[in-house]
Amino acid sequence: MPNRDRTGPAGRGAGRGFGLRRAGRGLGAGGYCVCPKCGYKVPHKAGVPCYSLRCPKCDTPMVREQ
Ligand SMILES: [Zn+2]
Repeated sequence: MPNRDRTGPAGRGAGRGFGLRRAGRGLGAGGYCVCPKCGYKVPHKAGVPCYSLRCPKCDTPMVREQ
């Protein structure tokens, strides 16, 4: 298949899909953990669930902010 790289629509679709995938990744890794009691906020770390963190001010388990 010598002309495979020239398949216009397929190439476009791949480009779009890549963009969407990158956006999805950003959503998953970003965000904040917030204390439901006093509102203290820390950046969410990937692989560390918010509920495993405790607010340094009032020792309340934190939740994920949407
Ligand atoms: Zn707090």
